[in-house]
Amino acid sequence: MIPRALLFVLLVLLVPCPIPAAELHGKVQELKITILSTMLADGDELGEWGFAALVEVDGHRILFDTGAHTDVVLKNARTLKLDLTTVPEVILSHWHWDHVGGFMTLRDSVRGAAPGALARTHVAEGFFYSRATAAPPVENNAMLRVRPDYEQTGGTFVVHDRPVQLYPGVWLTGPVPRKYPERNWSGRGRMTTSAGVVEDNVPDDMSLVFDTAQGLVVLTGCGHAGVINITDHARTFIRPARINALIGGIHLFNASEETLAWTTEKLRGFGVDNFIGAHCTGIETVYRFRRDLGLDRAHAVVGAVGAGFELGRGINAGEIAK
Ligand SMILES: [Zn+2]
Ligand SMILES: [Zn+2]
Repeated sequence: MIPRALLFVLLVLLVPCPIPAAELHGKVQELKITILSTMLADGDELGEWGFAALVEVDGHRILFDTGAHTDVVLKNARTLKLDLTTVPEVILSHWHWDHVGGFMTLRDSVRGAAPGALARTHVAEGFFYSRATAAPPVENNAMLRVRPDYEQTGGTFVVHDRPVQLYPGVWLTGPVPRKYPERNWSGRGRMTTSAGVVEDNVPDDMSLVFDTAQGLVVLTGCGHAGVINITDHARTFIRPARINALIGGIHLFNASEETLAWTTEKLRGFGVDNFIGAHCTGIETVYRFRRDLGLDRAHAVVGAVGAGFELGRGINAGEIAK
């Protein structure tokens, strides 16, 4: 005769327990994004042509991009009293100098006190392609030189060739399919791939997307893949939700009237509730988006250092961008 309590335990062990769908496709509960590098800055913070942001999501801390100058993100983090020794992960949105410039300085600034800080770096396939010019022979991709230095400090790179869920509801897009011809790059660069030397369309451009109960929050670096390709892709592999917030650089500063009109029409179709246009977005683009997406000054601003977004609370614009 099996005792009743033991029978219950056996039953619990034997009956297969389905993993709740919420855990497979989790939703982010708490999210705060703070800009650490962009052109506009308040008070003692420093502005530069570059981008970086600190992401705090459900107890995880991630540094997204590292600015252009070697020391600007480090100085801004100190001014804003943001401790980077408790940030294990880095995401580099693409190989360009204005997103990777502070990378080694930041790693060196934390590894003495915290060897595991900024020690794991996510990039997308194509990030380490050579961007050499033939005459004079110059390698423009600085990360090919930085890679062994970083690995010598104990740092590791993770190269993604597809979307990946880092934590429940926290998604990296990996390389973004170029469904629409947004051609959001200079056209002058060349890269060496297995198919030979071809135009550099920045195939490694990737974004970070958060799935929340309010919709998707999309964080971009330069958005070279095109903001519509990025958001359309995220809505395909995560879910076709509204865009609760679009934050970062989307490289439309020199876009034509036609491009701006097409882009806002597409975004209006998705639905955008908050917009922080930082870095290479362009000032005019921000105000065009504000008008054409039906947003107001509380929901569409130029991104400044120290400004950011908090899920459920919205945009904190800082002083100058209010
Ligand atoms: Zn950039
Ligand atoms: Zn770029």
